[in-house]
Amino acid sequence: MGKIVVLTTGGTISSAPNQTNGLLTTGSINGKDLVRLCEIDERIQVDVEEVFRIPSNQFTQNEILCLKQKVESVIQREGVDGVVITHGTDTLEETAYFLDLVMDVAKPIVITGSQRSSAQTGSDAQVNVRQAVQVAASQKSRGMGVLVLFNEEIYTAREAVKIHASNVVGFRALGYGKLGIVDRDDVIYYRKPYDRKTYALSGSLSHVDMIACYQGSDDRFLDCSIKSGVKGIVIEGFGRGHVPPGIVPKVREAVESGIVVVITSRTLEGRVFPVYDFPGGAQDLLNQGVILGGSLSGCKARVKLAVLLSVFGNDRHRIAAEFSE
Ligand code: ASP
Repeated sequence: MGKIVVLTTGGTISSAPNQTNGLLTTGSINGKDLVRLCEIDERIQVDVEEVFRIPSNQFTQNEILCLKQKVESVIQREGVDGVVITHGTDTLEETAYFLDLVMDVAKPIVITGSQRSSAQTGSDAQVNVRQAVQVAASQKSRGMGVLVLFNEEIYTAREAVKIHASNVVGFRALGYGKLGIVDRDDVIYYRKPYDRKTYALSGSLSHVDMIACYQGSDDRFLDCSIKSGVKGIVIEGFGRGHVPPGIVPKVREAVESGIVVVITSRTLEGRVFPVYDFPGGAQDLLNQGVILGGSLSGCKARVKLAVLLSVFGNDRHRIAAEFSE
């Protein structure tokens, strides 16, 4: 049934309570010990390699670039059929989408984590690792891009989002649904990802900020971003892609200074789209040179913009084409 390499990076799935105050310490369970508890089908050979031992709030572009290199080298190895990455759940969706955008491989890459440490009663750690390995070992997973396995469900990296802070039903693909499920020993798919595209990233990632709007928010954060020399800004606006009208002149200033600006929505489902004629509406922003982020969440659009800026430079029209849906 093949050989799967499990790359561990930390997160709750690697944690156990410490002796001093009972709080969880990341990295106290090593990957080999965890895998041993997962009752993985003996026909699947599993190798475990540690990449990091950190909670996912510590991930920066350095870690995701390093992880990309590691996955690339492992997946090319003779005899390796797929890779599983264990990761903290907090920023798992960003790492997963980043890898999905830059890894052009058919072999399955599956990311998982857990909401409860393996030391906790009713932990989801073992079952998630077990099922992630099953998904990675399945021929059916080839060519699906980077997948997220959580609580028996398989999602695309583009669509998976952490929807609960603690419940074992931690992830969903809001507005899209799951790709498939794992039911005991069976990996079952119901659909395939549509129109997936990868980009040849070499070198580092461009710096992109994300700025969230709220009622009455002003342009101070935008101003700070512009002055700090970022290459891109994702604005997480309202509804169909709207921002408080008072920030529009600063948005214009950002675009005129060569920063690529993308508008997304803080709504959980649906696309940004020009519908209204009011100031700060999506049409107004388009007129200022802002790019519509489609149905991507702010944090996924930030990852994509960072990749696109690194691959195409600040070619706004090219980047806009890559965001069009
Ligand atoms: N704080 C943890 C992390 O993201 C949460 C988790 O893994 O569930 O590393």
